[in-house]
Amino acid sequence: MLFDSHCHFTDPGFDGCRDQLAEEISAAGLRIVDIGTDLKTSQAAARAAEDFGFCFAAVGWHPSEVDRLTEELLAETLDLCKDPRVVAIGEIGLDYHWDDAPSRELQQHWFRRQLQEAALLGMPVCIHSRDADGDTLQILKEEVFQKRGSAAGRTRVLMHCFSGSAELARQYVKLGAKISIAGPVTYKNARRNVEVAEALDLKDLLIETDSPYLAPVPMRGKQNRPPYVRYVAEKIAEIKGITYEEVAAATFENACSFYGIDNGGQL
Ligand SMILES: [Zn+2]
Repeated sequence: MLFDSHCHFTDPGFDGCRDQLAEEISAAGLRIVDIGTDLKTSQAAARAAEDFGFCFAAVGWHPSEVDRLTEELLAETLDLCKDPRVVAIGEIGLDYHWDDAPSRELQQHWFRRQLQEAALLGMPVCIHSRDADGDTLQILKEEVFQKRGSAAGRTRVLMHCFSGSAELARQYVKLGAKISIAGPVTYKNARRNVEVAEALDLKDLLIETDSPYLAPVPMRGKQNRPPYVRYVAEKIAEIKGITYEEVAAATFENACSFYGIDNGGQL
């Protein structure tokens, strides 16, 4: 069995083919977490988790969306956590890649606020970080890693679609975080991602598609789908010189324990 730790199953990109995709996911014995990026997508993710036994949900506000965020909207979003199939807060973090993105100050404010709320709720967090390595690490240190011993310090942290260096990955693992590897590890120019997979112990790795984006080779250029997470597992097996089955089993177990899902992939 495989666990796609981060995808956007309710993304409009799957409209019209979602039922067929659900059948494929079920047939493959796959488990997925559908990740929210604002209130609407968080509600859709929570609904999908109700409707499909293979699906769990994460709710939260992506850094590119936070110019619309208010305390009221955040409270409404986090209210979804009352549902036991909502298993994490995410995706939250910092994205400095886009020129028209919300200001860095605003992104940092809402990143901190969501980390603080996750700690109060005792929920794990899925972190999005793009072109913001230093600030993401600093804020996670201040809000989580340096608070070990208090409730905030117990927050489980997953670095989604990790694109940093092997050294940074090691640093995160040392601080207690897990690293999730996505389709780009299969790309020809993905030296850094390959080094991350090489450097880390299997017990610290999760796998994901981030679908419908970032399709892995040999599907690169097509729309990505959760079942393609197997190409990520195959690549990690090749990099580490171990079997596909070992990678599948370990990453499945790691995802279940990160999200607090019992090992059959059920709650
Ligand atoms: Zn995502």
